[in-house]
Amino acid sequence: MEANYEKTQKRLINKTCLNCGNEFEAKSHRAKFCSDKCRFAYHQRERRRKEKKMSWIKKLDSKHWTMIGIIFVLVAFIIGLLILLNNLAAG
Ligand SMILES: [Zn+2]
Repeated sequence: MEANYEKTQKRLINKTCLNCGNEFEAKSHRAKFCSDKCRFAYHQRERRRKEKKMSWIKKLDSKHWTMIGIIFVLVAFIIGLLILLNNLAAG
């Protein structure tokens, strides 16, 4: 019985949960969470964080396109003005 107990003790690894920070005993070195609940919560938070990052990029992108639109209109206006001036000079 005692030998069995020692064996189990040896196999368990003390780990810190990535989600809640609590220490827990894991059976595998790959374990990162104390429970499925924590694993789910962590991944959900990670996804939300990524989505936040994505929306920030989208925001930047729309600003970028607005700038391009303004420059395009400005260039078209200048070209139109030059054509008008050219016509006035010719006429
Ligand atoms: Zn946890």
